[in-house]
Amino acid sequence: MAELKDVKGIGPKSLALLNKIGIYTIDDLLTHYPFRYDLLERNDLQKVGDGEKIIIDGKVESVPILMRFKAGLNKMNFRLVTQSGVVGVSIFNRAFLKSQLSVGTGITVIGKLDKTKNVITASDIKMDLLSNSMKIEPVYHCTSGLTNKNMSTYINMALLMYGRDVIDNIPEEYIKKYNFLNKKTSLNVIHNPSTMEKLKEVTIRLKYEELFEFMFKINYLKQLNKKKNNGLERVIDRDKLNKFIQKIPFQLTGDQEKAIDEILADLEASHRMNRLLQGDVGSGKTVVAFTGMYANYLSGYQSALMAPTEILAMQHYNNLVAFLKGTKVKIALLTGSTPKKEKNEIYDGLKNGTIHMVIGTHALIQDEVEYNNLGLVITDEQHRFGVHQRANLQNKGIKPDVLYMSATPIPRTYALTIFGDMDVSTIKERPKGRQKIETFVKKNSEIKDVLEMMYKELKNGHQVYVIAPLIEESENSDLTTVNELKEQMKLAFKDLYKIDIVHGKMASGAKDIIMEQFKKNEVQILISTTVVEVGVDVPNATTMVIFDADRFGLSTLHQLRGRVGRGTSKSQCILISDSDTERLKIMEREDDGFVISEEDFKLRGHGDLFGTKQSGDMSFKIASVRNDYKILLQARKDSKEYLLNKETDNDELKKRLIHSISIRES
Ligand code: ADP
Ligand code: MG
Repeated sequence: MAELKDVKGIGPKSLALLNKIGIYTIDDLLTHYPFRYDLLERNDLQKVGDGEKIIIDGKVESVPILMRFKAGLNKMNFRLVTQSGVVGVSIFNRAFLKSQLSVGTGITVIGKLDKTKNVITASDIKMDLLSNSMKIEPVYHCTSGLTNKNMSTYINMALLMYGRDVIDNIPEEYIKKYNFLNKKTSLNVIHNPSTMEKLKEVTIRLKYEELFEFMFKINYLKQLNKKKNNGLERVIDRDKLNKFIQKIPFQLTGDQEKAIDEILADLEASHRMNRLLQGDVGSGKTVVAFTGMYANYLSGYQSALMAPTEILAMQHYNNLVAFLKGTKVKIALLTGSTPKKEKNEIYDGLKNGTIHMVIGTHALIQDEVEYNNLGLVITDEQHRFGVHQRANLQNKGIKPDVLYMSATPIPRTYALTIFGDMDVSTIKERPKGRQKIETFVKKNSEIKDVLEMMYKELKNGHQVYVIAPLIEESENSDLTTVNELKEQMKLAFKDLYKIDIVHGKMASGAKDIIMEQFKKNEVQILISTTVVEVGVDVPNATTMVIFDADRFGLSTLHQLRGRVGRGTSKSQCILISDSDTERLKIMEREDDGFVISEEDFKLRGHGDLFGTKQSGDMSFKIASVRNDYKILLQARKDSKEYLLNKETDNDELKKRLIHSISIRES
């Protein structure tokens, strides 16, 4: 197979530069799509200065004279009549155009004007006169030492040399159905568009192909999961389970019950569970997950629950112990700070099966950890774990069922793509008796009001979170702001309340100690930079104050607000900002995380939804899940139809698509 360095014009230097921006193969190069197009207007011969760029329409006036040099070089000269005068044109290495440039032919010439000689040195000649008076110029992401022009030249050379090797990854029937151009032509057009209409047409086609491939693979994985008898055989004692559920101290919501049913059905079925449990902050996912763990225990298997931080692991552990009080379940907590001796005991217990459930952080997937019969793996806030880590944990079990919990409600579009290979359980309904969190937007000048609002709550024995202004310039200024804020709060509240700080640069142990103190109400005002640990549950905290609120995305704001309103007391969220952004208005108005995530999606795309790692997984070269939703849905439907169609099982394309998945998996 041809390599990037085989493309004429790409030497070692340019190869290194291309690599630098992520282009390693000819395919990478051909799909290095322009990120925008510049529309260039036609010029007037008289108005273009010496040595400047010119684009001009005209008719060939003289028969082109061709000169051939050594080493395959050639040059062609002819005269061109334009509306603003006659001009000479020379162009290198386009001998093949000679026969088309007969006298009288209308063309567009693009190049540089030499005013004294009255000659255009052309870089390109377009034969099809453009319908509008524009030249559409692709603009590429480049790097220093690699110009837009270089990029365009390399791409076009690659198309010329290897274009015939480009394969369509859309089945014949859909190409016909939608009247798509073939891929080679489409690539040609996207890099050299002659009209906007053509450009639009091929863009849709290339987007469709990208989404078709993606959805095909997702659908294939999902089908594989379902089809194979790859799950655990198990029997759950439903009587025992029901009796247990009845003892839960509150009434489960309808959505919680439904989610539990879905999970139980998965556990009992012969296929392996691969389910996402999503719900708004405070919707009560934990109890659903715990019930699943208990059912797994009743069927004779071990469970592992993985949390992103020690503090969350500890919180889950304490809750689970309380939840399973009165049962014979043995539960262990395993984190980085578990003492060595205890760690070894837990390893033994997991290996010989005397420990039924383990909760922990990444420590759960260390190599030393062996399980007796791991049947269920749950990850909390799953977007914090890399794909590799998840796979690592799964590999430890025989064929464990897997449940992912996500605290970020995900718009339907994303659920279809990122989690497209999973089943989804959604909890929308809130537990009874929850009060709406009142949200207020305040200006910096109104800080006195804010302090009074805080004081009212503190006086009633409640606690307050304060999120410090977001500062990115340097790590140290970060610290200054929290410290300054602490001083400010001290001045306002004297020694009435204990104030403490957590920030990102703190060692996790030190952070956990303070979080623990806050939980126990030994600290009343907790000042934090950016994000308070996701998922922390302190029902006595009733006020959330967020400085520089306009600098956060909607989902983050909603997550932060979700730290309060967890108990029965009325809670409030105060957003401090001097600018009146749409986002803050949405926050004042909406409290449904699903509505907010849709709004966020509309405002900013997926950037803020999952953190960088996840958006990286999602990066398409040309399609955008947000803007191309319609194409996505069509590609999804078609790819499923194609996958299920037995008659196409011997298609080269189908085999190739499936093969490309297994290569990447291994
Ligand atoms: P999240 O979905 O954000 O993880 P949690 O599972 O932490 O939410 O639940 C938030 C709080 O609501 C917990 O204190 C939990 O005990 C409580 N809770 C959960 N379900 C119900 C319910 N059906 N009725 C009343 N309280 C509930
Ligand atoms: Mg949670």
